[in-house]
Amino acid sequence: MHPPIRIRILASGSQGNAAIVSLRPRDAAPMHVIIDLGLSPRKLCGALAVENIAPNEIAAILLTHADSDHLHGGWARRWPFKNAKVIARKAHHHAIAHAGIQTTHMLDAEAESFNFFPQIKPIALPHDKAGSTGFRISVDGSTLGWATDLGRMSSDALAFFTGVDALCIESNYDLHLQRRSSRPDFLKERIMGGHGHLSNAETLQAVLHIHGQRALRHIVLLHLSSQCNSQELVRDLWNTHAPELAGNMQVATQTLPLPWVCVGQPRYCNWSESLFAAHHSSLNSSCAG
Ligand SMILES: [Zn+2]
Repeated sequence: MHPPIRIRILASGSQGNAAIVSLRPRDAAPMHVIIDLGLSPRKLCGALAVENIAPNEIAAILLTHADSDHLHGGWARRWPFKNAKVIARKAHHHAIAHAGIQTTHMLDAEAESFNFFPQIKPIALPHDKAGSTGFRISVDGSTLGWATDLGRMSSDALAFFTGVDALCIESNYDLHLQRRSSRPDFLKERIMGGHGHLSNAETLQAVLHIHGQRALRHIVLLHLSSQCNSQELVRDLWNTHAPELAGNMQVATQTLPLPWVCVGQPRYCNWSESLFAAHHSSLNSSCAG
């Protein structure tokens, strides 16, 4: 039986971010959604082919913001998503248009829900000048939260994500590595100053708060810095301070997709592996548009 929501992180980090979310409402047609287009058309279309999903089956593309690691420049030249709504907050409209992509649905207000996708709600998050957008996706009692590229977790954001079953949240940097890095001071300030990214400790604190309100079943950590973080540091931190959660936590990488997470079900579902070889040959043809 299919879960109401499943998600697969294809890649996450400063070299490119993208995830596939499949929704199967009880009383409506199933739909596929992509969060962020930070991979090249070749890579993302290849990943869709692996999952046996045709680009014209994508119903919506949610863009968190328009930085190139979330919106790859190649999509301006190759747009195979003929039936997809492109959804973003108004603050990102110009940057998205500048990247050659037409936003079909824009939002004005924070936390306004998409009335054409009532199960998807956005929230504005602090990140550089235009901010980023978080999402809360709910189908038939199962809920997924998405929070990446945010400089701090406000009380509003904590409340917004409280109650989700699965939380995908960035854990960008280790504070000591960041401080000791050879990066220029202005860049460190941009990252650590409340409008950049969350540190490992800040993410852990936010997750523990949310989990304390209502238990999280899945946690996926996103967007690890390649220069100022590592899987080992993150896992050590969680094993030390949240061992009860570490077993339900995955860490996304830049190069390898994570297994599907079936939201609301214990641990992870495992149905895509067999499709990998069968559909690999359609990698190029599926995305010719
Ligand atoms: Zn990013």
